[in-house]
Amino acid sequence: MNSVTRYDAIVVGGGVVGCLTARELTRLGARVLVLEAKSDVAAGTTAANSGIVHAGFDAETGTNKAKLNVRGSAMMPNLTRDLSVRYRQIGALVTAKGDEGLRGLEVLLERGRKNGVAGLSIVRGEKLRALEPNLSPELDCALLAETSGIVCPYGLAIAAMGNAMDNGAVLLRNTPVVSIETVEGGYLVNATYFAPAVIDAAGLAAHKVAALAGVTGLSQHPRRGEYLLLDRNCGSVVSHTVFTLPTKAGKGILVSPTADGNLLLGPTAEDLPEGADCAVTTAGQGKIVAAAKKMVPSVPLGGRITSFSGLRAVGESGDFEITKRGGFIALTGIESPGLSAAPAIAELIGETLGEAGLLPEKPMANFNPVRTVVRPKEMTDAERDALIRRDPAYGRIVCRCEEVSEGEIRDALRQNPPALTLDGIKRRTRAMMGRCQGGFCTPSLLSLVSRERKIDETEVKKNEGESYIAHERTKGGN
Ligand SMILES: Cc1cc2nc3c(=O)[nH]c(=O)nc-3n(C[C@H](O)[C@H](O)[C@H](O)COP(=O)(O)OP(=O)(O)OC[C@H]3O[C@@H](n4cnc5c(N)ncnc54)[C@H](O)[C@@H]3O)c2cc1C
Repeated sequence: MNSVTRYDAIVVGGGVVGCLTARELTRLGARVLVLEAKSDVAAGTTAANSGIVHAGFDAETGTNKAKLNVRGSAMMPNLTRDLSVRYRQIGALVTAKGDEGLRGLEVLLERGRKNGVAGLSIVRGEKLRALEPNLSPELDCALLAETSGIVCPYGLAIAAMGNAMDNGAVLLRNTPVVSIETVEGGYLVNATYFAPAVIDAAGLAAHKVAALAGVTGLSQHPRRGEYLLLDRNCGSVVSHTVFTLPTKAGKGILVSPTADGNLLLGPTAEDLPEGADCAVTTAGQGKIVAAAKKMVPSVPLGGRITSFSGLRAVGESGDFEITKRGGFIALTGIESPGLSAAPAIAELIGETLGEAGLLPEKPMANFNPVRTVVRPKEMTDAERDALIRRDPAYGRIVCRCEEVSEGEIRDALRQNPPALTLDGIKRRTRAMMGRCQGGFCTPSLLSLVSRERKIDETEVKKNEGESYIAHERTKGGN
């Protein structure tokens, strides 16, 4: 029989919800274990979404989506500051035209106010043009949401997990949860880990994980959203996140700067059966281009550098579903605005477990909420100069497109949770995310990973499974 390791809480899934939950429960004094099926955190839906911190006017008043979005959005400025995550409150504009469009905006305005969203107003004519000079002249009115922001979604999840680990949480990657047995006083996971509380934050697979614990009847399906990403020199075409009026299928296609300064177009919304993948399609890309041009006719499509897609976990109720059975909490239907709401979902789970007497009586006395990341590019010349004198690795540029230094790659391979793959490095540093998409820096990265992790270059993976970059050595020596 396996020996059993005991924790206060086990979190299944290292997406943004699981990582922030792990951090919050650690802050509350719990010994936390996170089990993630993939080789890294933030590799599921959290890796591929719009990265918008929605203000909270879209969801129906009184729903979990509305309450948790508004609270999560309010938490985001302090949270991202503590965790050194890129976030900017740039505001959003929901654009429309004519009397019918205006009526749609008024409905959103009213709902937003009921949801408790501050900074909402309708703008028209010259004021709208002044806010977004490149907007189509066809669009004559918009709802301005001043508190809407943009955040690096995987950056937030990685930082939250790293901070939880710095404070004592344990992360096991490449560890899918395959069994959950209800035992005296709690749950036995994979016949190896015991805790009185289990939080199922497994995203698209959350209903299946819940079924392992005997919580049946939950169902979800994937809704794919495709994107087109444009180079950083296109990022200033708009200065707000620009939407059109939302529909039942979602918030529609947007044109927005990203937290890292690119321009993002998308997403589409395509309901698919379980097991669907993150493909991109000609039809989907065509829809994005047409919708983006309608909003911003001068959108510089020549600047496109890549396309990608993500899968939303859509539940039956259309709301975030939080199902508690004893010490087991399943989170299903965490589609958009799940990223915006994630800090508030984590807070709610902490309160729920606390009220159930499943957490230690006192929060961790010496919890350190701060995680720092060295980013030479964001420093002044004088600061960067001093940094490079102290540590010359920060002066050796590896990724030219995104100006990422060897020192930052090394940090990504050492700092909690250390990157294990090239995609892990990419999400932590932005190396390979620029115009050449890794064409230039991949060989240098292979050498750095090999050196840091003390593995052969042929053992370095891009992400999951057998995704080795170098198949075999074709020449002798180095
Ligand atoms: C196209 C699109 C656009 C979106 N835009 C926005 C937006 O602009 N703003 C916003 O607020 N929200 C947005 N969202 C929603 C947001 O991205 C999600 O709500 C959020 O990322 C969900 O995070 P999660 O942690 O629940 O799931 P995930 O990130 O999917 O994490 C779940 C994790 O569980 C792991 N897992 C699965 N099964 C197991 C198992 N058996 N054992 C262990 N681990 C397991 C997975 O590998 C994964 O890492 C968007 C989503 C999509 C798809």
